[in-house]
Amino acid sequence: MNIRSVFSLIFITLSVALAVCGRVALQSKKAIGKPLGRMLYSLIPPVLGNLLIVSVSTKLPAVIGCYFYYIGIDFTVFFLLHYTLAYCNISWESHKLRGLVSFLLVIDVVQLAANIFLGHAFGMERIELSGRAYYRMVPYLPQNLHRMFVYAMLAASLTILLLKMLHSSRIYSRRYGVIFFSMLAVILWCTFYVVSRTPLDRSMIGYTAFGLLSFYFSLYYRPVKLLNRILLDISAELPDALFFFDDTGECNWVNNEGRQLLEIPGKDLSEVAPKLQPFFEGGDGGDNWTSTLEMNTTKGWKHYVLERKTIRDGRGYVDGSFLSVRDDTQAQLNLMQETYRAQHDDLTGLYTRPYLYERIQKKLAEPHDQPYCLVFANVRNFKLINDVFGVEFGDGVLKQIAATLRRFFPMDGVYGRLSGDTFGILIPRSQFDTEMMEKKLTNFTVSTGDMPYHVLIHMGVYEVTDPSLVVSVMFDRARIAASGLRNDFHTHVAWYDEKVRENMLWEQQISGDLENAILQRQIVPYLQPLVNDSGKVVGAEALVRWNHPEFGFLPPIKFIPIFEQNGMIAEVDRYMWRCACERLQEWKDNDLFISVNISPKDFYFMDVAEELKNLVKEFQIEPSRLRLEITESVMISDVENKLKLLAHLREAGFLVEMDDFGSGYSSLNMLKNMPIDLIKIDMVFLRNSDLDDKSNKILRHIISMSTDLNIVPLTEGVETQKQFSDLTLMGCKLFQGYFFAKPMSVGDFETQYVRAA
Ligand code: C2E
Ligand code: CA
Ligand code: CA
Repeated sequence: MNIRSVFSLIFITLSVALAVCGRVALQSKKAIGKPLGRMLYSLIPPVLGNLLIVSVSTKLPAVIGCYFYYIGIDFTVFFLLHYTLAYCNISWESHKLRGLVSFLLVIDVVQLAANIFLGHAFGMERIELSGRAYYRMVPYLPQNLHRMFVYAMLAASLTILLLKMLHSSRIYSRRYGVIFFSMLAVILWCTFYVVSRTPLDRSMIGYTAFGLLSFYFSLYYRPVKLLNRILLDISAELPDALFFFDDTGECNWVNNEGRQLLEIPGKDLSEVAPKLQPFFEGGDGGDNWTSTLEMNTTKGWKHYVLERKTIRDGRGYVDGSFLSVRDDTQAQLNLMQETYRAQHDDLTGLYTRPYLYERIQKKLAEPHDQPYCLVFANVRNFKLINDVFGVEFGDGVLKQIAATLRRFFPMDGVYGRLSGDTFGILIPRSQFDTEMMEKKLTNFTVSTGDMPYHVLIHMGVYEVTDPSLVVSVMFDRARIAASGLRNDFHTHVAWYDEKVRENMLWEQQISGDLENAILQRQIVPYLQPLVNDSGKVVGAEALVRWNHPEFGFLPPIKFIPIFEQNGMIAEVDRYMWRCACERLQEWKDNDLFISVNISPKDFYFMDVAEELKNLVKEFQIEPSRLRLEITESVMISDVENKLKLLAHLREAGFLVEMDDFGSGYSSLNMLKNMPIDLIKIDMVFLRNSDLDDKSNKILRHIISMSTDLNIVPLTEGVETQKQFSDLTLMGCKLFQGYFFAKPMSVGDFETQYVRAA
């Protein structure tokens, strides 16, 4: 086969290759696919041109081949520039140069085509090659125009690639380098053939080689090295310590963090294996595992998260493996701190309620041979402490209480703060000694500065007889037991038992019934006559009674304390006052008055003065006929305002009486300050049916002192003729007691005292 046939075959092969690759490129989904495909297709006409030139021996086809070749090359370099820009990720869609390049292309194509008529650019000469005629191109001066265009396009492409190469990171610059250098090689190769004028122009082989190379680099080249570089650079800087091992388990690479972790300087990896040993102990010895590891290191306590992975090839043979060690200490510390915060009360350091419940539940679930008891501790006067001394002081008090409570059962107690001023404790039943606890709580003081301050703590205790109950229900029981203590200042501990439970149920029922009872007039006032020193009935005290459909006739002691506790007393009193007013309106032809009771709690739930004024207005009665019984305990808090209020009531025309004088912590001093009209001397002084010497003296003094202060004295609980006459002699003006009459229904009272009058 002669050389011309060989080249013919080469050109045919190249054309086919370009056509196939061009098609593949155009169908590719990559952005580079289209420009690449066009560039490859544009190479086909010049290659075919060369095929014609080399294969024929007559002039005309050779001439046609030349036009294909030169005009084709114009398009090739034009599309090459497009491709280069796309390869370098440069968009020139709307750039001025784009128009200029297209314009130059058109000029050169037209100029070359014009050669057919003008013959100005090139001619043909006949030479011998392989024993046959061979026509080759003879360039004239204007042919250089064409060359300038081609070289300009190539130079532009080269420059773009060079700039891109210089201004990219080292790993990326290779990508551009490959194309740059192969393009440079093609240019040199072509130039050689242009200049040397060898009969067989092989420049298209260079172009095609370049095209196919670009095809590969644009679409298929996976820069493994580049990938490696990227991965290594990333792994080197990763915050996790990484250790890579080969198939024998030998360590062959460690990142910076790994070196720091094991404290290995330099590149020597011989120490990795022994130093890494403790980390491997965290795993299960297998190929792939994750685990955590806690360690005391020279840098303190550390918490690591470990991951081991073995990489295998398609057939299951080991390629290598790695271990990653993440220092998770800070996150772990944060978590622990957060958990601690969630579990412990900020102020007292005791467990929070949810966590206390959880701990108690766990403790009860553990096997234990002695029963537990659950203690609910309530600081009774805490609100007062906060109100009087301020919140900061109150916080200090709570801290001290928490600390003291903790000392009660140092060994086995589980402590928590349930709410503002209540605490919960779980201890073995045997450790709770009620008597001891009473003693401790009687003298329970917190010291603030040098002043010890007495704190009233009530404890409700529930013996855990049924550990399956939820903890909150157990605490409810302990709380119920404690609430039974009410305002008891002498008893501090109450155990939960069936009676407590029944009481609670009773309280619930009674409270639930109240509204209806008032509506249905099951609740009624009873009236107990009040008499003057000549034995004449001048008024009555209204005392509440409840005709309960289920429980029968209830005296106030059965329900008043409950309603005082839960605030419903205000409903009762409001109703009682209204009943009293109704009676007084009925008795308008009479001078009789009615005394009504006002509970200290009423002041919390209503505007007492407003309420009473409205009532007398509504019933159009003289306010002085409605007398108001108030106990000293009203004065326990907010004294200033209460004094004003009483004065206000008196100005409005009401008579204010102090009830149960002498029963509580009455101070005679109070008599002087309180704006009252009358005192009701408590029946404690008359307990022994005949007045003993001491009571006698006290009574005499109270009576004479109040008379001096212009306050009318009334004695309650007069049961005998002798008491009556003694008290009269002492100067007492008013009396109440079974000696005269027991409290009676309104009907009875009216027949005996109102209609009779
Ligand atoms: P209190 O206001 O001191 O009422 C006097 C209590 O002494 C009445 O008991 C009355 O029945 C009783 N009493 C009267 N004379 C004698 C006597 O000679 N000997 C003895 N041993 N007792 C006598 P009651 O009606 O059971 O009332 C008990 C308490 O219940 C009252 O004490 C009062 O604190 C409260 N209470 C009664 N009704 C009401 C009410 O409508 N509202 C409020 N807030 N409390 C009321
Ligand atoms: Ca009373
Ligand atoms: Ca009384």
